[in-house]
Amino acid sequence: MYETWEEIEAHPLQNGMALEHFLETIDVAPAFAPSDGIVRCIDEGTPGGVHLAGSGILFENEDELIELLHQNQIKGLMSHSNCGAAKLSAKQNGWPIADADQYGAYHVQAIAQKAGLNYAGHIEIDKLTRPAHQHTAWAAYYDTTGTFNPLKVPELPLGFGITRSLHTAADQPLSEMKIATQIAFGDHGWGKKFTHKKQLLLIPIASPGFSLPMLIKELAPLKEKYRELVRIEGFTI
Ligand SMILES: [Zn+2]
Repeated sequence: MYETWEEIEAHPLQNGMALEHFLETIDVAPAFAPSDGIVRCIDEGTPGGVHLAGSGILFENEDELIELLHQNQIKGLMSHSNCGAAKLSAKQNGWPIADADQYGAYHVQAIAQKAGLNYAGHIEIDKLTRPAHQHTAWAAYYDTTGTFNPLKVPELPLGFGITRSLHTAADQPLSEMKIATQIAFGDHGWGKKFTHKKQLLLIPIASPGFSLPMLIKELAPLKEKYRELVRIEGFTI
């Protein structure tokens, strides 16, 4: 039911086809249907439209987070099981990692409450759109529409979803892209299966106000770090 590495290797985008040309062969419009306004994690297992790492749990300044949620007319927040961001935050705050699910749910709920927003629930393991203990993403989307959901178009690569347009500055979304690439290249991701021939795709999605050259420039530190193991190729909507 989940995509195997053999299937990913056989995908046109892993066999020399340019993204621009691939997009001409499919209908990408359903991936940009209006979002429900609920923030989900950047995890490829929790597709939606608007995303923040751990639904905001890693924000150091809670007031800034709440302001960002209000400015973007966010309606609610969801937490999820096996959340890497929740584990990271639990660790940073001296909580046992075994309780990270509970910790994550509790904190996302607390953020929602403080912001006066709806806590839209906890996505359980069997509802994730990836295997429970493995990250099968082979792309990371850097989206500026706040609506993008690749799961609506089965031909699109499964990928982490980072919502660039929630933020004025690039530092926070770039740090979320870094988390996504670390997971993809780590023990829980495809890791060493990525090579210079079968790369992790970093896909900026440009829209009015966020040009493609600007987004590609923002992602340059990741290209510097991973070199030929990543390919930055975006498109404009
Ligand atoms: Zn997560």
